[in-house]
Amino acid sequence: MAVSSLNERIIQCKKCRLWQDSKQAVPGEGPLNAKVILIGQNPGAEEDKVGRPFVGRAGKFLNKVLAANGINREEVFVTNIVKHLTLQNRVPLPDEIAACVPYLCAQIDLIKPKVVVLMGKIAWQTPRRDDILFIETVHPSAAMRFTKMRQRFEEDFASLAKFL
Ligand code: SF4
Repeated sequence: MAVSSLNERIIQCKKCRLWQDSKQAVPGEGPLNAKVILIGQNPGAEEDKVGRPFVGRAGKFLNKVLAANGINREEVFVTNIVKHLTLQNRVPLPDEIAACVPYLCAQIDLIKPKVVVLMGKIAWQTPRRDDILFIETVHPSAAMRFTKMRQRFEEDFASLAKFL
């Protein structure tokens, strides 16, 4: 499937309840030949406003950690396991993840990255693919708040640079 028709399907999607409380879907962004895909939990209020992933505080922190490792945000593909806002950033429910995850799988299959970084336990539910390295790390919002998690996050991103 071409990325434009995939994005169109995400934008029009009403497969779970989450579209009802959001302004728009946030399919994800980045080059289609990206070697790395970063996956978070769900778009938040800032992302919902502009239709782009990781543009709020957690996104700024993520950009900083990427830059510290010589990685441009523009060279990685960034998305979430569900593509619509969850109110108050609540954890997506199992049926919402089940409804949405085929879009994520289609993105991974289109891009065929070397590495997929799963940021936070909900993102860890992403189905695996052979020949792709999946790295489980913490979510950037947790890494911002807790020193130990920040250390883990920074170490995991330091290990990423060698794949680019
Ligand atoms: S979260 Fe995913 S499955 Fe649910 S309505 Fe949005 S795009 Fe569809």
